[in-house]
Formats: sequence, structure tokens, C-alpha cells
Amino acid sequence: MKTENQKNLSVQDFVKGVITNDRSILSRTITLVESDLPAHIEKANEVLHHLPRVKNSVRIGVTGIPGAGKSTFIDKLGTYLCQKGHKVAVLAVDPSSSITGGSILGDKTRMENLSRQENSFIRPSPSKGVLGGIDNNTGESIIICEAAGYDVILIETVGAGQSEAQVRELVDCFMLMTITGSGDELQNIKRGVIELADIIIINKADGDNIDRARSMIEGLNNTLQYLRSSTQGWSSKAFTFSSLSYNGLDKIWDQVIKLIEVTKDSGCFYSRRDEKSD
Ligand code: GDP
Repeated sequence: MKTENQKNLSVQDFVKGVITNDRSILSRTITLVESDLPAHIEKANEVLHHLPRVKNSVRIGVTGIPGAGKSTFIDKLGTYLCQKGHKVAVLAVDPSSSITGGSILGDKTRMENLSRQENSFIRPSPSKGVLGGIDNNTGESIIICEAAGYDVILIETVGAGQSEAQVRELVDCFMLMTITGSGDELQNIKRGVIELADIIIINKADGDNIDRARSMIEGLNNTLQYLRSSTQGWSSKAFTFSSLSYNGLDKIWDQVIKLIEVTKDSGCFYSRRDEKSD
């Protein structure tokens, strides 16, 4: 006998489950849109057709090299936002799963605090070998989470040099995370990638790194003055952050709110969303 969890769900079951934020059905709906089977694709399209489109959410992309501290940062930011009353969904690309083709449970433990929050939903997705982990389904997964009532959607991807432009297209706010290092790190970040970012985070600004982070931020903010932001009417800025001290979290979130206000005023927020699949 099939258990409740294995039962075949109808389109209505999926739609109702998503709208009522039934976690298990929410996960199964994302699995459905990730499937390549023709029968699943058809069903997924029907489900998506019936889901409401929510426009008052904030979609944030966080990209950076492995080890930059993206998942730790998302854990902190997500927990902070849940405590402020937001409902936070994380779509995290699991780079290790491109080898096995399946998701691991790693993200649950990588984002330990956030996963304990009642108003959070964390979804690790296999990257299926796609560069940076972004694929056509990511946009659909965002719509599904929004329909379930999540008003902040955090998308974590591994910066792979070419995937950033795809992330940019999916989100309202694009964050680039970097760390201090040998001193020539600015030259190592491609100018094109910097231009895509609305907010740059110099992470791990703690201990011996504090001074290096300060001088890097100066250099970066000077450079940013001369670059053309990909977001109309917006001047991108760099911030330092440390997940050990939480220093910088308020400022970063304030900057996100400012960005949303500016882009809604200029219309850029809406035109970006209209250009997307929804
Ligand atoms: P990701 O691969 O970009 O998701 O990076 P992780 O969030 O997994 O972090 C990589 C390593 O850096 C882990 O060992 C973290 O504990 C450490 N880390 C993350 N954020 C900070 C920070 O702000 N300061 C310090 N010192 N270490 C950090």
C-alpha cells in the first residue's frame, strides 16, 4: 500500500498544497517542475498555470566562489528576517550533487539556525551539472515558493564566471560575495560581474582580516563609482560582513530595502519581472 507521501497527487492537490504551504507538497511540487519526464512537465505546467503570481516578494541572489561563506551568510540573514516576521525560502544549489545527480541533506545542516525557524523553507536542488546551478526550473521554483507565501526568496549559487548573468535575470537584488586574500582580489573579479551586482559583500571581515577588508572596501567603492550598474538609477556599494560578529547585517538589509524602493520608483523592478517567465 502506498503511504500518504507516495500517493499520486492531482493538479488540484498540488495547487492546494502549495497555497496552504504544506511543506511536503511544496517540496514535491518543486521536484515535479525539476523533472524531465514528459508527463511531469505537462502536469507541472498545469500546476504553475493555476498558482497565483505574487509581486510583493523580494528575490535575492547570492553568488560567490565556494568557501566565500554564502550559506553561512544566508543562514544568518534568513534567521534575522524570520525574526523580523518575514517568511524566508532558500533555493540552494548543491554543487556536490552534480556528481551524484541527487540532492544531499547537507544544506539543512549548513543552515542550521534557519532550518529551525518556523517561517523558513530550505530547498537544496541538485545542480545537474549546470554551470553555477541555475537552470530553467529555478524561476519556476521561485514562483512556487512565492505562491506558498514566502516573501523573501534567497537563491544561492556558486559563481562560475558565466552563470552570474542568469542569476541577475532571476532576481530583484543581486549580491556578490567575495573575501579578502592575496591583495589582488579586485583584479580577479571580472569587471562584468561587478557591474551585475547591486550589493557586494566582502565577507569574513573579522580577526586578522578586518584591516584587509577595510582597504578592499575602499578600493571597491572607488571602482564602483566609475562602473555602470546593471540596475538603472542605482549606485552599487560594497559592504563588509562577518558571520562571527553579525556586523553589517542591518546595513546590508537596509540597502536591499532601499534598492527595492528605488527600482520600484524607476519601474526597473517591474520591467525586470515582466521580462521573466511569469
Ligand atoms: P560557501 O561555500 O560559500 O557556502 O561557504 P560556507 O558558508 O560553507 O563557509 C565556508 C567556511 O567559511 C566555513 O568553514 C565557515 O564556517 C567559514 N565562514 C563563513 N562565514 C565566515 C565569517 O564571516 N568569518 C569567518 N572567519 N569564517 C566564516
